[in-house]
Amino acid sequence: MLYNSTQNAAEVVSAAQAIAQGISKDGGLFVPQEFPKYSAETFNELLKLDYKGRAKKVFADFLSDFTEEEINDCVENAYTKEKFGSDNPAPLAYAKLNGRELNILELWHGPTCAFKDMALQILPHFLTKSLKKTYDGKDAVILVATSGDTGKAALEGFKDVDHTKIIVFYPVDGVSPMQKHQMNTQEGNNVTVCAIKGNFDDAQTGVKKIFTTPEISAKLEANNMLFSSANSINWGRLLPQIVYYISAYCDLVNAGKIAMGDKINVVVPTGNFGNILASYYASIMGLPINKFICASNSNNVLSDFIKTGVYDKNRHFYTTISPSMDILVSSNLERLLYKLSGNNADTTKELMTALKTVGKYEVSDEIKAEITSKFFGGFCNDEQTKATIKALFDTDNYLCDTHTAVAVNVYEQYVEQTGDTTPSVIASTASPYKFSKAVLEAVSDGTNLPENEFDMVEKLFEVSNAPVPAPLAALKDKKARFSDVTEVNSMPQYVLDALNIK
Ligand SMILES: *Cc1c(COP(=O)(O)O)cnc(C)c1O
Repeated sequence: MLYNSTQNAAEVVSAAQAIAQGISKDGGLFVPQEFPKYSAETFNELLKLDYKGRAKKVFADFLSDFTEEEINDCVENAYTKEKFGSDNPAPLAYAKLNGRELNILELWHGPTCAFKDMALQILPHFLTKSLKKTYDGKDAVILVATSGDTGKAALEGFKDVDHTKIIVFYPVDGVSPMQKHQMNTQEGNNVTVCAIKGNFDDAQTGVKKIFTTPEISAKLEANNMLFSSANSINWGRLLPQIVYYISAYCDLVNAGKIAMGDKINVVVPTGNFGNILASYYASIMGLPINKFICASNSNNVLSDFIKTGVYDKNRHFYTTISPSMDILVSSNLERLLYKLSGNNADTTKELMTALKTVGKYEVSDEIKAEITSKFFGGFCNDEQTKATIKALFDTDNYLCDTHTAVAVNVYEQYVEQTGDTTPSVIASTASPYKFSKAVLEAVSDGTNLPENEFDMVEKLFEVSNAPVPAPLAALKDKKARFSDVTEVNSMPQYVLDALNIK
C-alpha cells in the first residue's frame, strides 16, 4: 500500500516513509491511496480474535512494507497487560443516562491515562522500524505540540528509545495541573519539555513551521538527524486508532448488544479531529457506522463547520475544563476534505492555503452535503459539561472526565433532536483523575475543596470510590525536571539549542 500527500498528487511514499517523515515536505498529510475493504467474512474472523489479533490484521493491511514478524513485534510490545492493566486495552463500559444505554469505550487505561496511549505506545515501534527501512543510521527528532495529553503520552512512549530524541511544547496556561506535572516530571535521557507563551494553536503552528523550514532541516541533516512527528498528523498515530473502533464493534457483537451487520453511531469528543477521523476510516473499510457525532466544547469551530460548511478560526479562543479540545485549527480535517473531494490534492491545498492566509474557507456544496449526511456536530460549555458529569454519576455511579462528558452531552442533544435510537459507542478519552478539580466540582457540593492537586485526587476518590490509576498516584512525590518557558518565535532556536546544534 502506498501513500499520497493531501497537497501534492505527485508525492507517493511507502508506509515506512510516511511514518518516518511524519508530514509531507509540501506541508500536506500522508493518506493511504486506497483503503482495504472488509467483508462480512473478515468481520466474522475478527470476532474470534483478541485486541492484539485484530490490531495485527489491520496493521498488516496498511503497512504492506512491514513483515509479519515486525508487526507482531510492534503489537506484542505495545499493548501489554503490564501497560494497559488487562488483555483488552480498550474495554467497553456500560452506563445508563435518561433511560438510554451508553456504550462507553474506555480508551484511557494506558500509562498516561488518556486515549493518546493507544497510538503512542505503538508509534515508537512503528517509527524505529520505519527509520531502519528508510533512513538507516539517522536519529529521529520528534517534535510535539500538545494540548496536554499527547505530550505526556509521547514522552512516555519515546523515553530512552534508541535513535530518537523528543521535544515537547505545551501552552503555559493551557493544560491541567496534573498534565503539567506529568510532563515536567518525565524521566528519560532523550526528552525535553518546554512551555510556550501562547495557546495550543500557536504551539502547533510553531512546530509545523519548524518542520517545513528548509534551513533547519538542512542543519539536522548535517548532524545526521531528521524531524518526525508524534502528533496526529503522523499516519502512525491515526492507524492504531482505527483498530479500537473495529474492536469495540466486535466486542458489542460478542456481548450480544448488537448483531453482526447492525449499524452503530460513534460519538467522539473532538479537538484535532484525529480520533473521529479514525472512525470514519473504519467505516470506509466496511464498519457499519450510521452517524459520526462530533462533540466540541466552547471552541465550537468544528460543530459550526459541520452545520454550515464554513470553517472560520477567526473567533474567541476559550480556555475550558476540557483543555485537550481547546483547539481552533483541527489538523486532521484536512484528511477528511481530501477524501471528500475525491482525493483532490489541488482542492485540498486551496482550502488549506485559505486557512493559513485568511483563517477561513468554505467547502463546495457537494462536500457540504456529504458532511451533513454523515456527521452531526454539537457543543456544550463548561457548566453543561459539569452537569453531565454529575447526572451520569448520580444516575449510574459512573464517573467520567470532562472530555467524555462533552461527548455524552452532545450525544443527548443528538438523540433529542433526531430521535435516532441506533446503539452508540461513546469514546471516553481520559481518566477523570487527570482533571480532578473540575470533576470534583461537578460531583461534590463544591465547598471546602483542597488546593493541592493530589489532595483533590484523594478527595475525588473519597467521593466517588472510582479507582485512582496507579501511574497518576505514583506522580505524587515526583520532583519536576523541567521548567523552561519560551516565546513562540524562539521555538526554532530552542529546538536547535536542545539538540546542541549551532
Ligand atoms: C486529544 C484529546 C481529545 C481530542 O482528540 P482529537 O483526536 O485531537 O480530536 C479529546 N479528549 C482527550 C482527553 C484528549 O486527550
